[in-house]
Amino acid sequence: MVLTLSNYAKDEWYQAGTGLAEIHSAVDDSIVAQTGTDGLDYAAILDHARKVGGSALRAMTFHERAQILKSLASAIMERKEELYALSTATGATRSDSWIDIEGGASTLFVMSSKGRRELPEDTILIDGDFEPIGRKGTFAGQHVYTTLQGAAIHINAFNFPVWGMLEKLGPTLLAGVPAIVKPAMQGSQLTEACVRILIESGVLPEGALQLIVGGVGDLFDHLTAQDVVSFTGSAATAGKLKNHPVIQANSVRFIAEQDSLNASILAPDATPDSPEFDLFVKEVVREMTTKAGQKCTAIRRTFVPETLLGAAEEALKARLAKVVVGDPAAEGVTMGALASMKQLEDVRAKAREIATEAELVFGDIDLVDAVGVEPGTGAFISPLLFRADKPWDAQRIHDVEAFGPVSTLMPYKDIEDAIALANRGLGSLALSIFTYDPATARQFVAGVGAWHGRIVFIDRDSARESTGHGSPLPMLIHGGPGRAGGGEEMGGVRGVKHYMQRSAIQGHPRTLSGIVRQWLPGAPQPTGEVHPFRMAFGELDIGYTFNTDSRTITLDDIQHFAEFTGDTFYAHMDEEAAAANPFFPGRVAHGYLILSFAAGLFVEPSPGPVLANYGLESLRFLEPVTPGTAIKVALTVKSKKMRKAREYGEVVWAVTVTNQDDATVATYNLLTMNEV
Ligand code: NDP
Repeated sequence: MVLTLSNYAKDEWYQAGTGLAEIHSAVDDSIVAQTGTDGLDYAAILDHARKVGGSALRAMTFHERAQILKSLASAIMERKEELYALSTATGATRSDSWIDIEGGASTLFVMSSKGRRELPEDTILIDGDFEPIGRKGTFAGQHVYTTLQGAAIHINAFNFPVWGMLEKLGPTLLAGVPAIVKPAMQGSQLTEACVRILIESGVLPEGALQLIVGGVGDLFDHLTAQDVVSFTGSAATAGKLKNHPVIQANSVRFIAEQDSLNASILAPDATPDSPEFDLFVKEVVREMTTKAGQKCTAIRRTFVPETLLGAAEEALKARLAKVVVGDPAAEGVTMGALASMKQLEDVRAKAREIATEAELVFGDIDLVDAVGVEPGTGAFISPLLFRADKPWDAQRIHDVEAFGPVSTLMPYKDIEDAIALANRGLGSLALSIFTYDPATARQFVAGVGAWHGRIVFIDRDSARESTGHGSPLPMLIHGGPGRAGGGEEMGGVRGVKHYMQRSAIQGHPRTLSGIVRQWLPGAPQPTGEVHPFRMAFGELDIGYTFNTDSRTITLDDIQHFAEFTGDTFYAHMDEEAAAANPFFPGRVAHGYLILSFAAGLFVEPSPGPVLANYGLESLRFLEPVTPGTAIKVALTVKSKKMRKAREYGEVVWAVTVTNQDDATVATYNLLTMNEV
């Protein structure tokens, strides 16, 4: 049955009646779907995203948006088999599809959880520390992020129809920006089915998600400075889109992730009988064959010490010989097809270019024995391993990305040579290095860091848990410099900020505090009759302060604390030795004594809304406390947030301990869990 794909525009499904293009099965070249966008009004789609979707999302807090991501991920997991059923025709095996479908859902789960843990229950995000400016403390600065008021245009590659959409959608929605998704035509039947699941989950506000299954018409002509284009695909298309006059004129944000000649290096400390050698061989073959090598992170260049070139070639060939190419639905198949006949032609052409500089030592560019398939049908190709003995004499192997199961094995002389060769790819998404020596690892990072977005070290101790060379992770950045596009995606909360604007705000701490809903030094500290430990979570106002009585610390206190705790460090016990220390005038109180006595001063002991103290942050001891010093404490409500589906509240208290001269002796943030 040939599906006609629908666009999802202005909250309605819309099928184009004319200008339909065919999508062919990667397995047998039959037509599986037709798709098109004739009749779409792109200006209206953008307008709808900005006015309807953007307004609704911006009205929600980060936590509410994070909750939506979780529901979307759950909806995909509940209906994942519908997606698996469509995935086979894209040439993907079950495990390839797992990366795409369940990997995509898990990316949303992680973004959701990070959103709830690391972002405030708010719409404005603080960036970095409060910056005191005026000497008297009446003028200060603070960076904040606010949500862009435009739409995010996601232009995705064909290789991951589901994950490719979700890895961008997670940070976008979490930031509060509506998305217009344009998948590559090849594989878009899967993206369309996934969007249906997301829409039918009923958790997305209107206008938050739209889908364009085909050409983008004049969409780019209507972009503004508040929109973001996030692109994955070829350098040629990225270059064309990035140079669109409207993108240039309006400074539209453009995040690109494009062709990348990722590499893997077997470090000089590895020997043929070391576990790292085996792990390296396994990983190179895994990367060559997963998704038939159609991964933006796949290993295209493989470097080994020159003395191990022969051994590495033999080991790689032996492992590649076990790969079973064929219909992903057939028993025993370990590598499926390329995404389309067009991709097959492209990969063959690129492999021929590589063959002008390197010897093909495994596979055949034109012939493959594909299981469960009529000979000559489908986009099947065998894994192709090349060997280039003089990598510095070659150019194409460092330039041409054959987007299939293709890699070139090369020797290097020493670490510096390996670094220079790795960097000759002029920018990659992922580099893996197999070494058991941390000093070697550091030398590599210093040399290659500037050219590679992610560097994975794999050794005998990490291999079992390692996510491998090719897996971008939602908590770590995905992107790379130069040839890789210069963009960055994901990276946890970092990815969210790509859809927000950072502004430096300046003013009185009272104003800044009101903006960020957090008490900042210099902002008012009102007091009241009621101790804050007796106040319900909802009654605690930011800035509300309890000033304690003072307590004089005696030598007996110090002596007692030392004996009781066992902390008899000389600075607390030995007058002469303490006085010889440049920081102390003589015996001083323990820092922990100050903390304990501070708690003794500010705590309200009866049962009440405070459930537990769960930590201190940013603790600093600023002045020594000598016997006879009288300390007192100001306990201020700094910030509050709900945790764990609103089961309890988290209060951050700014604690300032001062002496009789009002000099600050200690400051810290105290964290408590409170009843709500
Ligand atoms: P393309 O650059 O051709 O396509 C990528 C996306 O851009 C698709 O959604 C495509 O849509 C869209 N697109 C193409 N032209 C335009 C346009 N004028 N305006 C708006 N959108 C447009 O890349 P492919 O997917 O064909 O892959 C080609 C090569 O890209 C691969 O061989 C590989 O080298 C590289 N690639 C790199 C990846 C990476 O992450 N680094 C991932 C995937 C591919 P449509 O399909 O409708 O043309």
